[in-house]
Amino acid sequence: MPSITFYGATEEVTGSCYLIRGKKITILVDCGLFQGERFARAKNYESLPFGCGEVDHVLLTHAHVDHAGRLPKICLEGFVGKIYATAPTLELTKYLWQDALEIMDIEYQETGRLPLYAAKDAKNAEKFFKPVEYGKKIFLSDTDYAIFYDAGHILGSSFIELVIDGKRIVFSGDIGNVHPPIIRETEKLPENIDLLLCESTYGNRLHEPPGERRRLLEKTVAQTIKQKGVLLIPAFAVERTQEILYEFNRMVNAGLIPTVPIFLDSPLAIKITEVFKKDLGFYNHDDQLIAGEGDHDLFNFPGLRLTQTRLKSKDINSVRPPKIIIAGNGMMNGGRIVYHLERYLPNHNNTLLIIGYQAANTTGRKILEGHKWIPLFTRSIPVRARVQAIGGFSAHADQKKLLSWIGSAKNLKRICLVHGDAENMVAFSATIAKSLKIPTLIPKYGSGVEI
Ligand SMILES: [Zn+2]
Repeated sequence: MPSITFYGATEEVTGSCYLIRGKKITILVDCGLFQGERFARAKNYESLPFGCGEVDHVLLTHAHVDHAGRLPKICLEGFVGKIYATAPTLELTKYLWQDALEIMDIEYQETGRLPLYAAKDAKNAEKFFKPVEYGKKIFLSDTDYAIFYDAGHILGSSFIELVIDGKRIVFSGDIGNVHPPIIRETEKLPENIDLLLCESTYGNRLHEPPGERRRLLEKTVAQTIKQKGVLLIPAFAVERTQEILYEFNRMVNAGLIPTVPIFLDSPLAIKITEVFKKDLGFYNHDDQLIAGEGDHDLFNFPGLRLTQTRLKSKDINSVRPPKIIIAGNGMMNGGRIVYHLERYLPNHNNTLLIIGYQAANTTGRKILEGHKWIPLFTRSIPVRARVQAIGGFSAHADQKKLLSWIGSAKNLKRICLVHGDAENMVAFSATIAKSLKIPTLIPKYGSGVEI
């Protein structure tokens, strides 16, 4: 019988990495970065706890670095198989590796740890990319196969069904929120699953409904403009940024907000938005036709300014408020947002709008938890700006959506909870036991399960 060993995202959100050994093949699902106070925690620099040469193939759920960030490293350590993922995932992964490299280069100045891989290693890892389509069987041996399904989390994201030695394992990857504005809704689970590895980022939380998240965004924007303040939106370059641009496009076109300068201050997000413009086949077209009302450029509108270069980014300072700045990175532990936090957090006319998940120990988590002073660069900065969080813009399902998704599976035998904080997992596991009556396990790092 096949076995699975958990090498990441155990009782925490980052570092997804699962090794499955079957009779004929050994498969790795995801190989992401461990993240926290630093973009790349020290743990990433250890050798992988298995022989990378023994892994036949990798199945990659989506492009986020906490799922894909260590793949160039496994290639350096001897992996020579295929990396299967959807075409948009593979394209986005290239950009996210490049970006990760730049951030690790900056961390190198502070920690003396060389980046996990060089640019040429990332380029080399691309040789192993093998694009897949949703819903198609991919044979990994003559009998074992995988099928990718739309997870509705970010462009190209998947949950993956792996049938190995006759057992059916499903890897949730990250499951999207309800009614994502751009991409399609999460597909249903297949039947007769022996084991489901389920993410539990928001396993113990409920988000605002979609109508409410829009109303809150409109209110926050209007309030900041009225106060002649600066609205800072730290955003992940993939999906969050495009959804926020899409919302601003809608608000500006409908005349709901006055035209003020809106800066997209992230070279990565600017590039990724171009990828979104190309990959129209992955969109939820019905919603967009209604929301876009004939507007063919969903991510562009009067007032939007793209700041590619550092010089242009610095020029934002001289633009008088009110103004809106969307900058990476999403958890505020690196990227251009940090310079804006330093400048604008001390002023009570300004607002920091948090729309994405904040991992433990990140600057974002500290602010969200109400710290009044936060360390930035070499000093402490007072948090006097208003801090507003809208969970409804999260790219992750909340408890209600996760329960209905899991509940959609007929004859699901067992669940392992991954990709969540320990306390959330305990609570979520009790909820699953109570409402769905499915046995649930919370694996420890390095532990294994036979299927
Ligand atoms: Zn993700």
